[in-house]
Amino acid sequence: SATPATLSAISNGAKHGILFKGGAAMEALSTMDTLYTDKTGTLTYGEFKVDDYSAPEDVLKEVIYMEQQSSHPIAQAIVSAFKETDLSSVDHEEPVNEIAGSGVEKGTVRVGKPTAFSDFKYYDRFTQYFQKGNTIILAAKEKEVVGYFSLSDQIRRQSADAVANFQKEGIKVTLLTGDNEEVTANVAEVVGVDDYKASMLPEDKIDYVMQSQDKEEVVGMIGDGINDAPALANADIGIAMGSGSSVAMESSDVVVVKNDLSKLFYSYKLSKRLNRIIF
Ligand code: ADP
Ligand code: MG
Repeated sequence: SATPATLSAISNGAKHGILFKGGAAMEALSTMDTLYTDKTGTLTYGEFKVDDYSAPEDVLKEVIYMEQQSSHPIAQAIVSAFKETDLSSVDHEEPVNEIAGSGVEKGTVRVGKPTAFSDFKYYDRFTQYFQKGNTIILAAKEKEVVGYFSLSDQIRRQSADAVANFQKEGIKVTLLTGDNEEVTANVAEVVGVDDYKASMLPEDKIDYVMQSQDKEEVVGMIGDGINDAPALANADIGIAMGSGSSVAMESSDVVVVKNDLSKLFYSYKLSKRLNRIIF
């Protein structure tokens, strides 16, 4: 059970918008060696805007319906881009299947990240959009890519400072994301992480966490999505964004309630101070 000093640090953290689920998480945070971070919704706001798109109307209707069933920030952006239109009459018989870290499918219609379509009939004309730093989502019907959505997101105001602060404390910060190489390289440079890996599947994120743990490192992982949940559960300190999916929050030890990464660093310093007193 937690000591009075630990309880007081936990309540101090809570006042600053960082919820610790127990004293052990506070203790582990103070000894963190390496921090893995998700990109979309974590280092970025995850508030996408559809800048450009093309899709046949029947597929577009299906996609809108399918994305209404998903909590992914990209899904929400697609739904809101078309909410003023009259594109919602589709056959709702077939179940919508969400593929974590990839996209959604319903019958023969599929929407999601480009790398998930490499076996499909594919048009090179989509590659020009990858270079703009936008996230590209493809839509396919019967194994043929027939449409795309080009979406932009913004980096959170606090991300670069928070990363720099952790680095000054000797913590290595690595970005792990399911998004593509071009977008990821751009965010990695602006935010200033030590390293990054793009096109990660949820299980790849766990592998990174476990590889570091094999090297006796105390590993923090911060994320917001259902795709991050397994890695959050495996990390020594799983940290979820308050705006994240409920499964991410359930799988974590710490929640950043208002998504302010500077408060996470504040809590880290708090845990260090506490460590000097009692751990
Ligand atoms: P990140 O690790 O950046 O948070 P995710 O692992 O959640 O990203 O998703 C990886 C990629 O899969 C996204 O960048 C997007 O291209 C695609 N994706 C995931 N869910 C959906 C969805 N519901 N609709 C469309 N694309 C999706
Ligand atoms: Mg995310």
